[in-house]
Amino acid sequence: MNKKAISLISGGLDSALSTKLILDQGIEVVGLHFTSPFSSRRERQEGLQAVRTANELGIRLILKEKGPEYIDVVRNPKHGYGKNMNPCIDCRIFMLKKTGEIMAEEGAGFVVTGEVLGQRPMSQRRQTIELIERESGLESLIIRPLSAKHFEPTKPEVEGIVDRNKLSDIAGRGRSIQYDLVAHYNLKEFGCPGGGCLLTDAAFSGRLRDFFAYEDDFTMLDVELLNTGRHFRLRSDTKIIIGRNKQENERLRSLWRVPYTLLYPVGFQGPLGVLKGDAGTEIIAMAANIIAYYGKNRSPVITIESNDGSLSRHEVVRSDEDPERYKV
Ligand code: SF4
Repeated sequence: MNKKAISLISGGLDSALSTKLILDQGIEVVGLHFTSPFSSRRERQEGLQAVRTANELGIRLILKEKGPEYIDVVRNPKHGYGKNMNPCIDCRIFMLKKTGEIMAEEGAGFVVTGEVLGQRPMSQRRQTIELIERESGLESLIIRPLSAKHFEPTKPEVEGIVDRNKLSDIAGRGRSIQYDLVAHYNLKEFGCPGGGCLLTDAAFSGRLRDFFAYEDDFTMLDVELLNTGRHFRLRSDTKIIIGRNKQENERLRSLWRVPYTLLYPVGFQGPLGVLKGDAGTEIIAMAANIIAYYGKNRSPVITIESNDGSLSRHEVVRSDEDPERYKV
């Protein structure tokens, strides 16, 4: 077995420490970070923490997009979802299978992860960890330096490439031992654990559930839209998204493109909307009511403009219907 490892770098504390424990044994480590369409905007805007972590550790980092196949995993996870739309078990199997491919390309002998036994309710129970390892095809090749002593020795330990005595025996949700290790190694570049996955967000998950129920193709634009504004399902094939504030209105305007329809109020302050689906008379009336409702316009006639490639103006008689009933 080659004295070289691929370490999964999430950007969090545990993966940074795990990598450090292996590097300290004189083993070559290449970092691997998966980017996802479901990374939060904040995480993407702030830049990848994993890059900063890898720089601090002094290792090369491979960035790998989870890609369209991952959408299928999220849509139909064999092992189900966590609290929200997070298919953590399938997600980890997916990432480890991809890691196996990169291991082969890089000529690495084993994989390092920051997993800590019992730290997360779904994916870090012993049984689950073992199942993930089995299904990923990497049995005995995944070393978890922070919890290593709670598991049977892995192949790199048995072969003497990794010294088991220098690995740790942390378990559970507390992080005090990790913080002591961080101080010991003087590490500074790590982010909040688990903060960047939209699939763990309840509101985003609700909108994604609705999307999967009614729509097929899934693009990055869809992710951006799902992560912006209020969403209303007007019919099975029609949906409107409206901004909650000026910033979201501007964002929706920048995301809008034909064949979607851009809608906005005329003569009153109110949200801007992006309509996906057929903008017929009935739908325009529903959309106008929603825009007027959130714009706090109570006049009997509402005027909005729509742009589906060509501009048109609509005067709509206000209805008593509560728009909240369409909210996703
Ligand atoms: S939190 Fe998100 S990225 Fe992390 S394992 Fe679960 S689904 Fe995957």
